[in-house]
Amino acid sequence: MPGPKPLIAGNWKMNGRLADAAKLAGAVAASVRALGPDGADVLVCPPFPHLGAVGQALSGSRVHLGAQDCHAEAGGAFTGDVAAEMLKDAGCSFVLVGHSERRALHAETDGVVQAKARAALRAGLTAIVCVGETLSERDGGRTLAVVAGQLAGSLPDDANAGNLVVAYEPVWAIGTGRTPTTAQVAEVHGAIRAGLSGRFKDGAKLRILYGGSVNALNAAELLAVADVDGALVGGASLRADTFETIIKAAPRR
Ligand code: PEP
Repeated sequence: MPGPKPLIAGNWKMNGRLADAAKLAGAVAASVRALGPDGADVLVCPPFPHLGAVGQALSGSRVHLGAQDCHAEAGGAFTGDVAAEMLKDAGCSFVLVGHSERRALHAETDGVVQAKARAALRAGLTAIVCVGETLSERDGGRTLAVVAGQLAGSLPDDANAGNLVVAYEPVWAIGTGRTPTTAQVAEVHGAIRAGLSGRFKDGAKLRILYGGSVNALNAAELLAVADVDGALVGGASLRADTFETIIKAAPRR
């Protein structure tokens, strides 16, 4: 059975000014337009203040707009935070939750991540829930247990393949230029798939992205691994030509 259609997602993090974001989005839209209707689904996640301009630059294209985080509540006294409903109003269809930088730098626990993922579903967004082990956890042989624990605690129970994506991002591979071997990726993605299939009715169809130092040179190999249904791309998504190469590397399903 062919897997789900791949999703190539760009996480722009806190990079660029408004004009850069609009230009990059326009270039991504143009390259996806040139690729035609087949091929991978494509998503870009700019910083919050750039969502409007990026959304405009993407209008008429099949590139999806997403955000990098949301708050669990729909509104209230949460200075500096953004509700999932606000992201929906801003034109988003996806939101990342539980990125390792949020978990590490903002002390987000699995419980917080699960509440954010629930908020995404409540607002009609697809949640991309990120999980992944640190280097010491991998070296200690705890990768599968850590990832299973994060999934158990971070995923909302009422999710399905239409509103939930899992991104496996080993923390030690993010922004470092280091990637796991394809055998290591296959092992973790296989374990995630088994867990999702046991928990969700359509778990076999849920997309599992790989993220961590995906680039133009390694994308084809990583995207060909069993149960890898796309990529979450940080640094390499900031250049339209590199991102296009990664999009083109996705298997056609
Ligand atoms: C990320 O932060 O989600 C990521 C995958 O970053 P990079 O591709 O730069 O490793």
